[in-house]
Amino acid sequence: MKSIKGILFIILIMSSSALLWYFATPIEPIQTVNRLSHVIGGMAITGFFLVFLLATRMKIFERWFHGLENVYFYHKYIAIFSLVLVIIHGQLQGIVPRSDKVERTSFSELAKELGSLGQYGFIALILIALLAKFLKYEHWRIFHRLLLIPYAFGIYHAYFSSRYDLLQPTPLGIFTAITMTIGFMSALYMLTMYQDMFFKYNGKITGIKKLGSDVIELELTLDKKISYRHGQFIFIKILQDGIEKAPHPFSISGGDGKKVFISIKALGDYTKKVYDAVQLNTPVVLDGPYGHLNFENGTQQQVWIAGGIGITPFLSYLQSQPVDRDIELFYTYHGQGNAIYKEFLQDYAQTNEQFSVNFIDTSQSDRLSFENFSVPPQTSIFMCGPEKMLKHFKKQLKSCNKDISVDFEAFKFK
Ligand SMILES: Cc1cc2nc3c(=O)[nH]c(=O)nc-3n(C[C@H](O)[C@H](O)[C@H](O)COP(=O)(O)OP(=O)(O)OC[C@H]3O[C@@H](n4cnc5c(N)ncnc54)[C@H](O)[C@@H]3O)c2cc1C
Repeated sequence: MKSIKGILFIILIMSSSALLWYFATPIEPIQTVNRLSHVIGGMAITGFFLVFLLATRMKIFERWFHGLENVYFYHKYIAIFSLVLVIIHGQLQGIVPRSDKVERTSFSELAKELGSLGQYGFIALILIALLAKFLKYEHWRIFHRLLLIPYAFGIYHAYFSSRYDLLQPTPLGIFTAITMTIGFMSALYMLTMYQDMFFKYNGKITGIKKLGSDVIELELTLDKKISYRHGQFIFIKILQDGIEKAPHPFSISGGDGKKVFISIKALGDYTKKVYDAVQLNTPVVLDGPYGHLNFENGTQQQVWIAGGIGITPFLSYLQSQPVDRDIELFYTYHGQGNAIYKEFLQDYAQTNEQFSVNFIDTSQSDRLSFENFSVPPQTSIFMCGPEKMLKHFKKQLKSCNKDISVDFEAFKFK
């Protein structure tokens, strides 16, 4: 399991939270149902700490979870899990006997109100987040950032309506202070500083090439060199009036670090706008590199599979050096208009004995399939393209080749 370190980290934090709440001493003795409600509420607030922490795109998490898309996967499911805990906590509080509840003060009354508001806020915002595919990405992001508000309410609620004195330097008090501070700062950082601090590479667009009817290749010249591995991607902001300022991820398709190429397929609002309107000399800023594909770490025998625009990470490698291992590329696309860089790949295969390429045009032939496709043991398989296709191929390949390693980059954060 490639995300093992990340999963262990989550288990460690969540179980520490559960144990610390369970074994902590309340201000006055409380009934079991109330204790359980506190454990669950405490775990929920710890879960949200993890949600915000994972959203910071810290490199260490990318390594621990084997890729940013996996970090986002756990970010999403911890949020859902924490929301379920919040709801259970609320329900359990409803059955706690009156005599067991915290004494009424203006702080505790407000904390109770904020707890309820926080709960509704989490429910609404997480439901909206799950409807991502029906929303414009920019709108989705705005709603997503509002999660900080119910989290702040939750923190106040935890401190002022719990039956435990969290302000004391007990193990639970220290754990809560640390996690809540980091969680809150992480959310605040993503909201305010990320946009300025993390875009360390400035540059401008020095070349524009249209490849077919909907793919555009941009040459970016940077003020300072970015070091990256072939197969990695960056987040870019194109600072041109009329083009959305939000960062978008694109794989590096070539260059030497000072010059970087990206190839963009016009699929939605942003990419279509870039395709139609982007101009030479427009300033850009980059954050990155990110991504776990590592062809150099693969074995001598490699199979590459690219779907459509998913050819970009492979181009980065091929354009930089002659291959020093045996690579067979399967490149599938729909219609010749989508077969970008076909000539380059054909020429490359002719001049490099160790490289061969199969073109699969699904408008002319059957879909690519790896049913009963066996490869020599120890082959490394790298894939890039639509997530559904990649998962399907992975299943087919693994079913008849037990010892192979399959690694892929889907152009989607879950
Ligand atoms: C790791 C990675 C590498 C990629 N590399 C390439 C590449 O080399 N070439 C290429 O053409 N495309 C690449 N993409 C896809 C590209 O980022 C999206 O097509 C583009 O952001 C869509 O924006 P849109 O507004 O045009 O489309 P929309 O229709 O608005 O978005 C389509 C989908 O793209 C995703 N998306 C949209 N905006 C963002 C954003 N700001 N950040 C993250 N995801 C977003 C969302 O899942 C959304 O549902 C890559 C994506 C990822 C995750």
